[in-house]
Amino acid sequence: MGIKNIKNIKNIKNTLILLITISLIYYIFNKYKNYINYKNYNKKILTLNDYKKYNVIKRSNLKNMNYVVDTNVHFRPYGGEANNFSKTINFLRNSNILMCIITGIGQRLPLDSKCHYYLDCPGVPVKPSIINDVLNAVDYKEYRHLFENDMIVILSMSFLDLHKPEKIPLFIELLDNEFPGLFKCVGEVNLCKEILINNKVSCIPKEIIPKWKSFMKFLEIRKLPIIIHSDIGNNNNNLKYIDLFKTVCDLYPNNKIIWTHMGLSKELTNMEPYEHLNIVSTFLDKYPNLYIDITWRILYDNIFKYKNKRDIYIPFINKYYNRILPGTDFVNSILKNQEIYKLEHDLTSYILNFVDNNAYRHIALGQNFINIFELKGLTAPYVID
Ligand SMILES: [Zn+2]
Repeated sequence: MGIKNIKNIKNIKNTLILLITISLIYYIFNKYKNYINYKNYNKKILTLNDYKKYNVIKRSNLKNMNYVVDTNVHFRPYGGEANNFSKTINFLRNSNILMCIITGIGQRLPLDSKCHYYLDCPGVPVKPSIINDVLNAVDYKEYRHLFENDMIVILSMSFLDLHKPEKIPLFIELLDNEFPGLFKCVGEVNLCKEILINNKVSCIPKEIIPKWKSFMKFLEIRKLPIIIHSDIGNNNNNLKYIDLFKTVCDLYPNNKIIWTHMGLSKELTNMEPYEHLNIVSTFLDKYPNLYIDITWRILYDNIFKYKNKRDIYIPFINKYYNRILPGTDFVNSILKNQEIYKLEHDLTSYILNFVDNNAYRHIALGQNFINIFELKGLTAPYVID
């Protein structure tokens, strides 16, 4: 080997080291640059662009501490007229929502009913119906130009009559034919919502649940999460219905299931926090595809606004940070408006002021939402103090 060759090898080595150093500096600079950007903002409102690259944000620089992900917003009411779609999308946009799941409603009042809410018409039967899903899908297509550039909107089908599972595949096929690929989620459906007994809806009998097999397989293959309302029990018998939900989890462990309101309701308000959390964590530990949501203001009204109870829930939320979704559970009747949406958003967000940065990023800033729907190219900003 000549001296010239040795010199050449040395030159190549030096060039390589130089190139690696330059790339390293460039990489670190870019990472740090995003951080500097945020440091320079006085107060920052997040946009979807902040999710398209690696970002770090100081928590105190966020202008609004409310969540940006509403995973349970019913664009249709139980009965009567709804606020129109574009107006409702603006309710969300004005509260800085970047991602949402639009649902119909599990059961609706008859079309000629004067009531907007089932409680206003006791004794009148509410029934699962495909109407809300169709109306939502038509609106989605018509108004998509209003949100497709700055919001992620997931449409959820909520017609499912869990009492008559044999009919469900037929209706899914129908929606698929009319709106191919549009529905990416299922629910909110009611496995057991005790209050609806007044409107002639019973909890699903345990022996019907195995008959869900064919549609649950379809959801599993299509990776469609299903949002299930299932009361744990009531104030007289705290655990009255828990076996129903357990049966679903046991029979369908491969389905992504979102258990709404952590199994609580207006009829179950006296459960001891430790006992409640013991049940929910046992479920979360046993079923890895199970998620819970902290939607509906009743959680604030009955738990989160009280410091002594809240302090028990915060370590739980920090621990199960990657299994929890936030949302309003807003029901969009014509009687509702921007202020009510904002209030429900404020109240259901309240607890997230107290969780750690990691939980805040996953729940409030939407990393869990991104993971569940496997949204490519999006990452929630990392959060620091
Ligand atoms: Zn519910």
